[in-house]
Amino acid sequence: MVYGQAHSGTGLVKWRVNYRAILSIDRETHMADVLQVEFHCHTRYSKDSLTQIKALLATCRRKGIDRVAITDHNEIEGARLAHQIEPERVIIGEEIMTTRGELLAFYVQEKIPKGLTPEAAIQRLREQGAFISVSHPFDKARSGAWDLADLETIAPLVDAIETFNARCLNNQANLAAQAYARAHHLAGTSGSDAHILMEVGAARQKIPFFNTPAELRQVIWQAQSSQALSPFWVHFASTYAKIYQKAGGTLRSLGGKSPGREDA
Ligand SMILES: [Zn+2]
Repeated sequence: MVYGQAHSGTGLVKWRVNYRAILSIDRETHMADVLQVEFHCHTRYSKDSLTQIKALLATCRRKGIDRVAITDHNEIEGARLAHQIEPERVIIGEEIMTTRGELLAFYVQEKIPKGLTPEAAIQRLREQGAFISVSHPFDKARSGAWDLADLETIAPLVDAIETFNARCLNNQANLAAQAYARAHHLAGTSGSDAHILMEVGAARQKIPFFNTPAELRQVIWQAQSSQALSPFWVHFASTYAKIYQKAGGTLRSLGGKSPGREDA
């Protein structure tokens, strides 16, 4: 608290200023102005993850992630459930396998099936107003990587490309994506591609407040990224999840209980 006084024409004027209150208001405003965003996460609705929805949300809260795009493979059911629980924090996303490579979409309303041409998938996403990025475009270790010619074809049709994916085995693919984005004046999204909770938030971006895909298109250019590659062994966790989920499928076909969808 700071007190002061001064003489005016009508007499002595006294005032007091609560700087602590002003600072705390300023801090709250600042926090609301900038969001910590994780753009690439999987749950047990992907065949290669066992992450439970509620555990993912709790991890995001604990790690200070204000917005999380849940981007299961060719599926939005888990993201929808999460969105019902925490509508403000969750962006319904999808990682879509096209005939030429994987797309990453945010603010998806209707699921896009896998196996479409990239142009057809992009058109369907555009019709629902989704924000479109391109998953790990230069990571040749993935089945969803892109040939350069195919990437050139879709580059004018997307909003961004993924310029950092924490699951790349080395950073060359990310550096290539960053150089490509710069050369083609494309925005970049970063994501951990988390399939287990430990990975969540490994790559995140600080972005001015947004609430719609249109607003995201405007503010993504001001994103500040903080990112680190995940250890190689996280890929073994995905392999284990695949085997576990497959066993669930086998159990289901035998009339047993699925191990994969218990909490959802
Ligand atoms: Zn992914």
